[in-house]
Amino acid sequence: KISYYNGEFKRDDEISVDYNDRAFYFGDGVYEVVRVYDNEFFTLEEHMDRLVRSASEIEINGLEQEKLIEIITQLKERNSIENGSIYIQVSRGIDPRNHAYPAGAEPVVLAYMNALSRPSLQMENGVGIITANDYRWLKCHVKSLNLLANVMEKERAVRAGAHETVLHRDGVVTEGSSTNVFIVSEGVLRTHPANHLILNGITRQEVLKIAQEREIEYQEKPFTIDELKAADEVFITSTTQEVTPVSNVDGERIADGSKGKITQVIQEGFNQKIHKLNLV
Ligand code: PLP
Repeated sequence: KISYYNGEFKRDDEISVDYNDRAFYFGDGVYEVVRVYDNEFFTLEEHMDRLVRSASEIEINGLEQEKLIEIITQLKERNSIENGSIYIQVSRGIDPRNHAYPAGAEPVVLAYMNALSRPSLQMENGVGIITANDYRWLKCHVKSLNLLANVMEKERAVRAGAHETVLHRDGVVTEGSSTNVFIVSEGVLRTHPANHLILNGITRQEVLKIAQEREIEYQEKPFTIDELKAADEVFITSTTQEVTPVSNVDGERIADGSKGKITQVIQEGFNQKIHKLNLV
């Protein structure tokens, strides 16, 4: 497998990462995960826009989007993986450990590609989730390398035999540890508004477009844990998990536990967007 670090494409086993990369010491950087279906990028521009925006939010300025696109395009071409995901991160730079930004350090890019198939079983059968307190910082709209709270809360799900942990602030649901959360009640689709309390998922945005296209009423309005548990349908979204139905929350079943009708319509819309990639 060929990966990329700090200006060079190399075989994985030939890459050595600089231990003064600020990604290690401080998680001082941002990242993206982009999906490749049948050799085509899905929503590439949206991901690269968000990467540059996340970077500028933490004062890593001057990234050139075309160069980043060139790196991951090369990565895709050098690895013959038809269906996969590309991880790309940008750190503030390389310098001996010191909190303040290093003068003159250049951002460092790391990128690799993995094979990945669609999560068909979970998209059909649904998953269980648990809920937990959201104690993250107040810049959750930045796709930062700092994922300690997300990692610890995901681990709680794993230990509970669940798939994801959904976070709440004072009973108000924000998002999952690596997903956005939607509910359907009384025919209306609802998700947390895109503000500093969540990452505005690219999949989330695609779902809202599908809702609009298919005339499903939706609201970007917060909901509570109680509303989550009482919903007719619940699903989570992300680049790798796509649109995954939730069958139970904290061990309590959602409706009859099977995939809901609106969830099904959204999944069909999403499939259509993926298939269109290869028709143009
Ligand atoms: N929220 C968080 C905290 C995430 O880490 C992610 C993705 O990993 C998402 C939401 C979903 O974002 P996207 O649909 O762009 O993958």
